[in-house]
Amino acid sequence: MRIPFDNSYAQLPPQMYTAQLPTPVKAPQVIATNAALATILGIDPADLAAPDAAQVFAGNHIPDGAAPLAQVYAGHQFGNWNPQLGDGRAVLLGEVVGTDGIRRDIQLKGAGPTPYSRSGDGRAWLGPVMREYLVSEAMHAMGVPTTRALAAVTTGEDVYREERLPGAVIARVAQSHIRVGTFQFFASRGDMQALQALTDHVIARHYPDASGPAELLDLVIARYAKLIAQWMGLGFIHGVMNTDNVSIAGETIDYGPCAFMDGFHPDSVFSAIDQYGRYAYSNQPGIGAWNMAQFATALIPLMPDRDAAIEDFTSAVHRMPALYEEAWLSVFGAKLGIADPQGDDRALITDLLDLMAKDGADFTNTFANLDAAHARDQFIDRDAFDAWAARWQTRKSAGAAQIMAQANPQIIPRNHRVEEVIQAGRTGDYAPFHALLAAVTAPYAPLTDTTAKFARAPSKDEMVTRTF
Ligand code: AMP
Ligand code: MG
Ligand code: MG
Repeated sequence: MRIPFDNSYAQLPPQMYTAQLPTPVKAPQVIATNAALATILGIDPADLAAPDAAQVFAGNHIPDGAAPLAQVYAGHQFGNWNPQLGDGRAVLLGEVVGTDGIRRDIQLKGAGPTPYSRSGDGRAWLGPVMREYLVSEAMHAMGVPTTRALAAVTTGEDVYREERLPGAVIARVAQSHIRVGTFQFFASRGDMQALQALTDHVIARHYPDASGPAELLDLVIARYAKLIAQWMGLGFIHGVMNTDNVSIAGETIDYGPCAFMDGFHPDSVFSAIDQYGRYAYSNQPGIGAWNMAQFATALIPLMPDRDAAIEDFTSAVHRMPALYEEAWLSVFGAKLGIADPQGDDRALITDLLDLMAKDGADFTNTFANLDAAHARDQFIDRDAFDAWAARWQTRKSAGAAQIMAQANPQIIPRNHRVEEVIQAGRTGDYAPFHALLAAVTAPYAPLTDTTAKFARAPSKDEMVTRTF
């Protein structure tokens, strides 16, 4: 396989990473490869079917031009400062500049231990690999900035997570894997050389219009506010919004115990490790601002006049809620077929959300079928819905149906379907994975006989309330 590597992170000061080869695995086998993404990256899709593909994506064979390394970072995990994290089970193979001119990382997640593994085994099991593949590609198909999945392979080795499970590796693609936590690591150690080099690298790579840290902060805040608004519009709960999981490029990153809600409950938490609901659906915008405050703090040492910078950066963080509200209004406006939502429309949107929350209406299906005669069936209090719908009818834009069709997916990777696919994968049957992947990567397509089942909300016994 030929990958046109062009590595820049490996040129940065050496304290920013450790050169690290993936640890070879016993018997890699391909589960899935992504030809459309490969094409963008400048990889010949035919190479994905070549015999060495499994070896490459498992980390057994290092393609020419790769400069494998593990990145170091720190982070606030559930609000607690952790001064030393890093790629504990991921190895950055290198970067490519795609046919669209965008530089991207190709990283193998689950590739074996690194100096940053702490007590971890450096591995991933098949379940989270399948979930990340499905959810990240679904997010991309729904227009949400996200890391993507280039390939998934099984390793032929077991990993132990309370039980014996099949090991897997996902080849993940991101505009970069630089996080808020990467900045925090160097800022907290007073390593000005690395902090400056990182900032210069990020500006050149992701925000070429930024003149310095202050503008960088503004631009990251703007992207992140918009990203979270998009999550909210899909009923998506990230689950682990730690600062080490906040991409500086503004992409959704690190799909662990994430979930799309079925019934709408604003305080929903799925993550088994989110004991106190810090990252509940409704908390995501506030946590987003908290995370940007940490980013701002990490940038302060770069500023010649620190007192002035503290004041300016505080104001920048305080502007985030308004940016988020603006993005939220445009996201939910489109979901209601309102092309130019105004402040007044806020009440129309929140009134619907309140009705949905009261009756636990299915988030995705309520919006996907809002125009249908059976829309009211999602609600227990149908009169209340009818009264709301009458108000809505007078506000919809011309061409509302088309706006709504592009804003309201029919199919999302529902937890119970993802779980089903993982269980089949554990027995070596990947057909359900491929069927679900095909459905979630065409989220706005009209339902067919084969895809209709993926749009159905779970029954009570099918419902998955915890993700790992
Ligand atoms: P996460 O909560 O997934 O963002 O992971 C937090 C930190 O734990 C990161 O530094 C990961 O690299 C590390 N980590 C997670 N799982 C493992 C594992 N199985 N082996 C080694 N490190 C891990
Ligand atoms: Mg992480
Ligand atoms: Mg993770």
